[in-house]
Amino acid sequence: MNIPLRQYINLLLGYLRPQWARALLLALMLLLSIALQLVNPQFLRRFIDTAVAGGTVDTLLGIAALYMAFALGNQLLSAYSRYVGENVGWTATNLLRADLAEHCLRLDMGFQKTRTPGEMIERIDGDVNALSNFFSQFVVGVLGNLILLVGALVLLWRVNWMVGLGLTLFAVGALAIMLRIREIASPHWAAVRQANAEFYGFLSERLAGTEDIRSSGGVAYVMRRFHEITRGWLVFQRKAGMAWSALWMTNVFVFALGTGLAFALSAHLYGRGEITIGTAYLIFNYTELIRRPLEQIRTQMQDLQKAAASISRVRGLFDIRSRVKDGPGDHIPRGALDVTFDSASFTYEEDDEPVLHDLSFHLEAGRTLGLLGRTGSGKTTLARLLFRLYDPTEGDVRLGGVSLRAATLADLRSRVGMVTQEVQLFHATVRDNLTFFDSTVPDERILEVLEDLGLGPWCRSLSAGLNTEIASGASGLSAGEAQLLAFARLFLADPGLVVLDEASSRLDPATERLLERAVDKVLEGRTGIIIAHRLATVHRADEILILDNGRVLEHGDRKRLAADPKSHFCHLLEVGLEELLA
Ligand code: ATP
Ligand code: MG
Repeated sequence: MNIPLRQYINLLLGYLRPQWARALLLALMLLLSIALQLVNPQFLRRFIDTAVAGGTVDTLLGIAALYMAFALGNQLLSAYSRYVGENVGWTATNLLRADLAEHCLRLDMGFQKTRTPGEMIERIDGDVNALSNFFSQFVVGVLGNLILLVGALVLLWRVNWMVGLGLTLFAVGALAIMLRIREIASPHWAAVRQANAEFYGFLSERLAGTEDIRSSGGVAYVMRRFHEITRGWLVFQRKAGMAWSALWMTNVFVFALGTGLAFALSAHLYGRGEITIGTAYLIFNYTELIRRPLEQIRTQMQDLQKAAASISRVRGLFDIRSRVKDGPGDHIPRGALDVTFDSASFTYEEDDEPVLHDLSFHLEAGRTLGLLGRTGSGKTTLARLLFRLYDPTEGDVRLGGVSLRAATLADLRSRVGMVTQEVQLFHATVRDNLTFFDSTVPDERILEVLEDLGLGPWCRSLSAGLNTEIASGASGLSAGEAQLLAFARLFLADPGLVVLDEASSRLDPATERLLERAVDKVLEGRTGIIIAHRLATVHRADEILILDNGRVLEHGDRKRLAADPKSHFCHLLEVGLEELLA
């Protein structure tokens, strides 16, 4: 078994330190519980021997009372230590989850784009779950069980060397057998988990595509795959279940042998008059006591293996560094910002063709640039560079004269606003969706912005006004409405540069008019870059830049280009935007 012990200890200490007092309490309680378990059979021996020797009822009652007090104490202790243990485990793992989530949120888009939501859930929650038992139980559990085991064996040796030797050999043998046969079951469990993951992956993908599947008549096919996968799953589950039963039966058998051994030895010694009947009972009791730690050591070895895998995955995730880092903190000026692309090139994957080639242009503060180009020409990518979701592979991008690499991400992102092609709305109230959960923004301000954007009637039609919940994924809102909400977000954030990646889907005329008004409003006193798909939006621009395969095909004043019959833009206007941009 390959366990990164140092990593494990570092992780454990790091997350237990903030709650060291509780962790210490837990350790003490577990040790105390072990002591109680070892002491209790001694009372039984005294009780039986006193009874056999004809002791008084008072003495017997005294011993019985002590026994019960200790047993009850032990029960209370184990209940409480369970409670503390869960708390310690959850506190530690929640800290770890939070750290992982925060770390991942800071990673660059390159990281985010290559991971599916399912994988992220598995890595932030699944792996940490596997560690939970580990934080609360492992050290104390394994150590405690070893102490319990050794304690019981020492006490047996003290009773009689033959009994001690016999049961020590038994314990070692039983542990060896149990660890051995465990290996039979584990590959089956791995297969079950794999099938499990596959099934949920399948299910989530199909559920997300319900509409398409129904409309394209793919239901029967999906159901067939569903049955195939669940049938395969059953086979693995059955095998794993069988292996588990075999394991369990072997355990029962091994421990029956142990009990038999204890009885045989006791009978032999009792027959020779070397031990009392009470001691025979004591031997039997300790043999039973050995059973639990043996089983727990076995399961904890299993946990350890799972945890080892999880630890290395958690560490791996922490080791991923964001390629986009905070700069020294040069301040981006207030007000409208001028934009400079200085020989910027960009590639998504290292060996791919560049998406943007040696791009240079300058946009004066307060002006609006209409960005045109075929689908895939790199318009959205250009916008992402402005937002520093990625850094250019070569060259530089500057805002207000400050290189983006020199600014902090927080400053940059408060100065640039973006409305994307697909607006992401959260399952939260309208208010939270607009302010990104910033409760300091006053309601009046939000209502004012909505009114300005022509969303007043819409807002008043909502059952609970700003406190109406929006379902996640913006279901129930049209693409246009979602974009309008995104504009409202922009207004509230008040950036110096606005990037608008227009939705390419067609909108109804009423929403379209609202959107146009919103665009006008948002561009007042700001620099704007509009990735336009509709002519109406293009006419709002002061300058036009046409991208072709990541290169500047044409850049100039809109009116001048429109008047020049040889320009690409003029040609575009003649044949219609949709024709060429599609
Ligand atoms: P559209 O008009 O359809 O929105 P666009 O001009 O915005 O197109 P981009 O999204 O910038 O185009 O894409 C430019 C190129 O980069 C395309 O070839 C696209 O396949 C590729 N691309 C976009 N996003 C990624 C990504 N995350 N990883 C790898 N390649 C990408
Ligand atoms: Mg795009």
